[in-house]
Formats: sequence, C-alpha cells, structure tokens
Amino acid sequence: MSRFFSSKYNCLIPYTPGEQPKDMQYIKLNTNESPFAPSKMAQERAANAAKNLQLYSDPECRDLVEAVAKYFAVQTDEIIFTNGSDEILNFAFMAFCESGAVFPDITYGFYPVFAQLNGVEYSEIPLQDDFTINISDYKSIGKTIFIANPNAPTGIVLAASEIEEIVKANPDNVVVIDEAYVDFGAESVVPLIKKYNNLLVTQTFSKSRSLAGGRLGFGIGCKELIRDLNTIKYSTNPYNVNRMTEAAGIGALEDDEYYKTNCGKIKENRQWTANELKRLGFIMTDSYANFLFAKHSVVGGKEIYLRLKEKGVLVRHFDKSGLRDYNRITIGSREQMQSFIQILEEVLKELL
Ligand code: PMP
Repeated sequence: MSRFFSSKYNCLIPYTPGEQPKDMQYIKLNTNESPFAPSKMAQERAANAAKNLQLYSDPECRDLVEAVAKYFAVQTDEIIFTNGSDEILNFAFMAFCESGAVFPDITYGFYPVFAQLNGVEYSEIPLQDDFTINISDYKSIGKTIFIANPNAPTGIVLAASEIEEIVKANPDNVVVIDEAYVDFGAESVVPLIKKYNNLLVTQTFSKSRSLAGGRLGFGIGCKELIRDLNTIKYSTNPYNVNRMTEAAGIGALEDDEYYKTNCGKIKENRQWTANELKRLGFIMTDSYANFLFAKHSVVGGKEIYLRLKEKGVLVRHFDKSGLRDYNRITIGSREQMQSFIQILEEVLKELL
C-alpha cells in the first residue's frame, strides 16, 4: 500500500477473480463462462461497430435498451445497462444501502466487497445446513436485500413465489435479485417489477449469451429505481458500455435460437456430469445454474482441485469454512465434460 492510499480503504479486501493461468492449455471450468463462442450475429455487429470506435458510445444504449424492453415486455425507462452485472450490483450498493445490506453468508463473493468499498454496513444471514435459504429470515428486515437466484456457488433456486414473499414483506427496502444464472432453468422475477417498486432484477450477457469478455449487464426495475441508478452511472462513467459491446448485445439478443440451443446443451451436460459425478462418489447440491457444486464422500475438495490443476483442469475451490470440501465445476461442452470426468477418475485412483 502506498502512503497515498485513502485510509478508508485500509481494510478493503478485494474480490478474487477465478485464476487465469497461461502456463498451459487448461480445460477451464472455473469461471462459469460459456463454452460456446458468441453468436455469429453478435460477432458481426461488434466488428461493424469497431469501424466507429473514434466516437463515444451511446450513454443511453438506446438501441439495446429498445431491443431488451421488447424482449422482456417492459418499458425502456425500466432498464439500465452496465459494464457487466458487477457494475450494476456496485451501483445498487452505492444507491440504495443507507440503512445497510443483508445477504446470505454463502453467496456471490463480490457482495461483501461492494459493501466494504461503499462503506455499507452489512450482515450475512446463514444458509440452512442443506445450503437452502429460509425465506422467513428475510422478512421485515429493514435493510437492502441481495439474493442471487440461482445462488452461487450452490446453484440452488428459490421459486418466484418465494421471492415475491420476500419483496412483499420488505416494502420500504429495495430487494435486489441477481439473476446472473437464471437462464439455465430458474424462473425470472422480471414480471414482478410491474407490481413492486422495491424490486430490482439484475441479469448479464456473460453466461447464457457467451459475452463474458464483452462485459454487458443490466438491471430492470421501476423507473424511479432506474433513474437513481442512472444518477450513479452518470456520476461515474456515462460511457460504461462500449460501442462493440452494445452492438454484440443486440446481435446476441436477435439470435434467440442460438441462445436457447446453448442453454439446452448446458442443461443436458449438467445432467450428464451430475450422473457421472454421482457414479464417482460425489454428492451435489441441486444446481439450476451452469455449474455444479460437488463434494467427494472421502477425498477433500482442495486435494481434488490441486490434482486436477496439475493435470490441466481448472475448477473453483473456495478456501472458506463450510465450502472447503466442495468444488464448483462450470458446465462446458460435452467434450470438455468427458475429458474432465476421465481426468477426475485418474485423480481419484491416485488419491483413494
Ligand atoms: N452475479 C453472480 C452471482 C455471479 O456469479 C457473477 C459472475 N462472477 C456476476 C453476478 C457478475 O457477472 P458479470 O459482471 O460478468 O455480469
């Protein structure tokens, strides 16, 4: 730390992104990216947009906002686009957390970082022993609530009706539902924004639409919430979505067939991988996301992670109490999952 660093950040522990080692060609199952290239339409539109990079991007992302408004049957002033959904989550911590924030103790690791960064007091509500959320823990809480649905790293979902109960029970606080993984089998609560002015839903093009490297996320909520978020956006970086990414987003949305086919393949591969893992002695949470959260009945999570890495497979291990026995395994293509299972069998033979 330099002597110039603001003392308010002395205790800030930044988020640790999944590792991206370059020493060999890994089967990369550690950051929940899509194994599929972006849609051709997204690639072509981005390449075209590159021809005009001398111009700033459209701060309102009008073309994309219109396309998404149509897609989700909401109004254009009920949407905001950001640089990945991480940015809108940060904006929500900046905008709506004066009375503090709550989220589960096991969830997306960026929530406590955003809270610390923005000086927001927060508390973590323990999940139940089976990693599920007890929704009565989130009633009349008096703080801004952040829930990832499906949750990360477990992939476990709440039903839309359960989320509605939480939103209804906290009319004086914003409830942020982070739907980064919703397209792999969960039910979105976007339609509920028409009924509740305290609900903000965030989504991303990073996972199901193969644009993690483009950095495109968005929020949908009532127009007053979106106006507040725009106040934050225009006070930090109005050009937060670059021209190529906006264009890629429009292309990805147009190619709905491709997106649906890919989500279908991920769900099939998830089922195939879950069956194989069970055969090898793993137990798993019931994941509706593009990853599985699995622990072996005998061998520790860290040993498995390290041996897999030696053999060229990256999975995500969290060295945190309650999570250490597990690994989070991104669902890739069928070929990737077959290689993963084959290498995992070798690892288990060595360790058992
Ligand atoms: N929410 C959750 C639960 C996530 O796991 C991630 C991905 N790391 C994000 C939000 C942010 O994704 P992005 O910024 O790529 O949209």
